[in-house]
Amino acid sequence: MSHSSTHVAGSTADSGIAHSRTPRSMTAAVLYGREDVKIERVDIPKLGEDDVLVRVHVALTCGTDLKVWKQGFHERMITPPALFGHELAGVIEEVGSAVRSARKGMRVVPANSAPCEACFYCRKGQPNLCEDLLFNNGAYAEYIRVPGRIVRRNMLEIPDKVSFVDAALVEPLACVLRGIHETNIRAGDTVVVIGCGPIGLGFVRMLSVRGARVIAVGKRSSQMRAAERLGAVATFDVAEIENPVGRVRKLTAGGRGADAVIEAVGRAETWQWALAMVRKGGAVQLFGGCPRGSEVKIDPTVLHYSEVTIKSSFHHTPRFIREALDAITRGEVRAADFVTGEAPLAELPSVFQHMKNRNGELKTAIIP
Ligand SMILES: [Zn+2]
Ligand SMILES: [Zn+2]
Repeated sequence: MSHSSTHVAGSTADSGIAHSRTPRSMTAAVLYGREDVKIERVDIPKLGEDDVLVRVHVALTCGTDLKVWKQGFHERMITPPALFGHELAGVIEEVGSAVRSARKGMRVVPANSAPCEACFYCRKGQPNLCEDLLFNNGAYAEYIRVPGRIVRRNMLEIPDKVSFVDAALVEPLACVLRGIHETNIRAGDTVVVIGCGPIGLGFVRMLSVRGARVIAVGKRSSQMRAAERLGAVATFDVAEIENPVGRVRKLTAGGRGADAVIEAVGRAETWQWALAMVRKGGAVQLFGGCPRGSEVKIDPTVLHYSEVTIKSSFHHTPRFIREALDAITRGEVRAADFVTGEAPLAELPSVFQHMKNRNGELKTAIIP
């Protein structure tokens, strides 16, 4: 992330956009540190010859941004002071002189990262683990610079019939679709999803669409209702039941456990529930990242004799960015089920304060 973007407005002219009528400064959220985000006037980011500038039509809040805001940084994704936010859709305002794959006026959804395609992991076909994964932040702003590598590999044109807010779901949905792919789930399987935040509910929706029988385990009645709406055949509110593992197993064939369990919370206790809810030969997807320093106790005997597969998937790849937009275009996922509020950019700091208080809201659409 370039820090130059946070300098005082209007300091230099930029040759790349010299003849443009685009203003030189914009309103944007700048992350300064722990629980410290400010709305300011900053320079519009300068374009390199293969970058594009996107006018943001909508940006979505995300649990990752909440985590980053709480700790003030993210070692791989963002170093303050920095522009902030990573789920967005908008219209291309300017293109660098060498850009061929995009044009001004194009409706686009740029992903928040792109792999290098040259490192050890990229050559092994694991681009989500790229040693030089390029992250881009700055969605909570009037404009965002999209670096050339993302323009070439991970920025997609939005089909006419898809709205900006639906398209902005591409990034989280890509993570979900890759998580499902990595867990090897088949139609007809009984799958438990633990956690009914936006990511957990994304799993509930996509697994239901693909013919799995989904049992959702969550916390708030509003989220349990959302899980039902999105296709869960049964829901458990852990605030209201004693033994979630026992209750879930009762709903599986012969009490053997689920064919697969997706953990989308990121706590040691729920990781253990997942391992206790799965059947012999089943698969567990530990999708929620636990805080650094967490420890999870696993009984190796149970693991071995039950032959359970454990996966813990991270991030997305260009393939799943495309599959996500396809699923959205087919109408399988709609923002209306995940976006529970809308706020102007000026209110972003209070939106984060509100999210911190865990109010049962899912995502908020930020309109610059
Ligand atoms: Zn996100
Ligand atoms: Zn790479």
